[in-house]
Amino acid sequence: ESIPVITIDGPSGAGKGTVSRFVADQLGWQLLDSGAIYRVLAVALMHHNIEVQEEEPLIPIAAHLDVQFEITGEGESKVVLEGEDVSDSIRTEEVGALASKVAAFPRIREALLRRQRAFRVEPGLVADGRDMGTVVFSDAPVKVFLTASAEERAERRYKQLKEKGFDVKIGRLLDDIRQRDERDQNRSVAPLVPAEGALVIDSTDLSIQEVVNKILSFTNEKL
Ligand code: C5P
Repeated sequence: ESIPVITIDGPSGAGKGTVSRFVADQLGWQLLDSGAIYRVLAVALMHHNIEVQEEEPLIPIAAHLDVQFEITGEGESKVVLEGEDVSDSIRTEEVGALASKVAAFPRIREALLRRQRAFRVEPGLVADGRDMGTVVFSDAPVKVFLTASAEERAERRYKQLKEKGFDVKIGRLLDDIRQRDERDQNRSVAPLVPAEGALVIDSTDLSIQEVVNKILSFTNEKL
């Protein structure tokens, strides 16, 4: 018996992060936020002043990324890059956009595979991303594709950023979301599509708890 994995893929702003954390906490399983790995890589490239034009010069940085994901408390974690706490700085829109650019390079994705698969430990893993069910954990017994309308996702992101005191425009966020969707869905490697056999959940009109419950009952059916 291999270690069970629940993959939760979908576009940005669909609520994957929150939902994945709840599901992992509920089951007492390990959590992988794969987007954070792409974001950390983007920050590393910024720190080292490496331009994201060609793939080749980025590969060694991806392969040797010195990053730690530390659990600091209940539902709390810290992301440390080269000894520096980057938990907040990886969350900006700028870093997200650069991460999505970097993520379009096939050999970069390949260089990050082993690092992601290392999160698969007993008693199980909840893996949040874009290609968790299609590529990284294609043998996962439970696959979910979580989506929501672009407008709803922009609205959620807007509230999040406002709460953190950022001054943002909703129209700009919606444009960013559409652009990122476009890039994530149309790239040649690991495009954002539901994995075969995935439970597709549209969270536009659902609460977090309703989504979590759907995933937990689907998991019970499958395992
Ligand atoms: O999910 P998050 O917004 O943190 O991810 C940042 C970017 O990293 C995404 O826009 C996407 O391009 C990329 N990504 C990816 N594959 C994953 C997770 C994230 O390509 N599994």
